[in-house]
Amino acid sequence: MHSHAAVIEEPTAMTSEFREIDDDDSCPYCKKGRMIFRNEEITVSELTDRGEVVCQVVVPMGSCTVCNSRMMGSGGSEKVANALRRARDALR
Ligand SMILES: [Zn+2]
Repeated sequence: MHSHAAVIEEPTAMTSEFREIDDDDSCPYCKKGRMIFRNEEITVSELTDRGEVVCQVVVPMGSCTVCNSRMMGSGGSEKVANALRRARDALR
């Protein structure tokens, strides 16, 4: 379903609970493995004053070849923020 709400692109200053990685794909946790990134659909939710919004968003997710730590790839938190903003708009 496509929303008819206008999406305004703006820089997001929100703090992210996800770590981001740049072009270095070594694992920041074990420092041994490599992060392998692939697009994955994840479910994100946020509590608003109108209740909880839940949406699916496709983001680059990395997992370590050694310790299996997972982290979101570059740009992922922006996609999550945009998806949550659209979900909030849909509540209006
Ligand atoms: Zn690791």
